[in-house]
Amino acid sequence: MLTLSYEYRLEPSQQQIDIIEQTLDVCRSVWNFALRERKDWINSRKCPVNACSLVQEYIMSPDEPYPSYKRQAKALTEAKKTNPRLKAINAQVIQQVLRTLDRAFSDMKSRGFGFPRFKNKYRMRSYVIPQLGKETVKGNQVKLPQLGWVKFRKSREIPEGFVIKQARVIRKASGYFVMLSLQLDVDVPQPFPHGHPRGLDLGFDKFVATSDGLEVKRPRFLKSLQRKLKLLQRRLKNKKKGSNNRHKLNRKIARVHQRISDARKDWHFKLAHQLCDGAGMIFVEDINFISWQRGMLSKHAADAGFGQFVNILQWVCWKRDVYFGKVNKDGTSQECSQCGAHTGKKTLNVRVHHCPECQYIAPRDVVAAEVIRNRGLTQARVSRALESRPEGLSAVGTPVDIKRCDLSAGFPRRAQAHLKNACGDGLTGVDLRIDLVKSLKQESPTIATLGA
Ligand SMILES: [Zn+2]
Repeated sequence: MLTLSYEYRLEPSQQQIDIIEQTLDVCRSVWNFALRERKDWINSRKCPVNACSLVQEYIMSPDEPYPSYKRQAKALTEAKKTNPRLKAINAQVIQQVLRTLDRAFSDMKSRGFGFPRFKNKYRMRSYVIPQLGKETVKGNQVKLPQLGWVKFRKSREIPEGFVIKQARVIRKASGYFVMLSLQLDVDVPQPFPHGHPRGLDLGFDKFVATSDGLEVKRPRFLKSLQRKLKLLQRRLKNKKKGSNNRHKLNRKIARVHQRISDARKDWHFKLAHQLCDGAGMIFVEDINFISWQRGMLSKHAADAGFGQFVNILQWVCWKRDVYFGKVNKDGTSQECSQCGAHTGKKTLNVRVHHCPECQYIAPRDVVAAEVIRNRGLTQARVSRALESRPEGLSAVGTPVDIKRCDLSAGFPRRAQAHLKNACGDGLTGVDLRIDLVKSLKQESPTIATLGA
């Protein structure tokens, strides 16, 4: 199953905007109510029976069952009979809110996420429509439950053969958007190691350095608009809390932030495509970028958006049939890429690598990228040996004769699958800019690199 998310800007009428806002408002009430229920239950079970607090204790009957998704959904159906506000909204939309809350609780346990929060009216920004009618898009209009036909800016065509499964209506600082989940019933295998290997070293000094010697400077997205942001934020303290003027100013600030984040994402996509050019394999370090954002350079780390970049890169690699691998990050800057000698810790101001063993001299980040490439190749060889691919395609990093390639083997079959449809993955939240024609054009050079 292939899932893509396409985002479009909606152009709703005033009446439709009112309905969207009302839906968001009801979703928010349901979220807060359901969260309160769960929180109360948890609070009442907090203390052991022999160690009650001296001051106060939350009391709830011991046989009161936990308000699970199933129970809450049932209670919602009951409440709908008497509550006209709930009745006015699409049933599936509200049910989806309970499901999201349920997932937030399970993510907290399994993935260490934070405790779900209550939402004020600015925090409820989107709702999901889990099921859509048969004919959803006609020209530049999309049919959504309750809203009817809504105009949208068709910035790109929906690829042929895809079925629209879900829609999410989003309110952003810059307007209203709809995110459509498109699905196609087809199986596209993962790319496997082939062609030219490339290691990437991400860092603060250079955003990225490649093992081929390319160094890309870190763009300062925030810096260019920071003056403006600062000016607006300074005005904020003169505005009374909860006033209309404060709200207006806050929206202005949000729009600036939106602009920064749009520019950053665009740049990430362009760089990812550039890095995929002429590569068959891409390796990066296995870094936890969240810890970077807590350190001294936190502002710069957040501004660069390394985590988002790696996600986008992974996606672009997948789309362009480039193998993507993560390697162990330990000591990549302390090793010589040519002879493997340990060169010791370098402080940040040492920008050039000079190996005392083999006299290799090169920029420090490039050497680190080369080390990452070497590690990735070793890793890919091991995984390849385990999978034991058909002969002729199994030699990593060595030239492969395209004429000898068995057409039924993994790679060509994958390419054929590409030709039939676009390619993609359910990377929700990331704007997936796919140009069908472009992706078809890109297939040919990738095949060519096999022979090169
Ligand atoms: Zn050396």
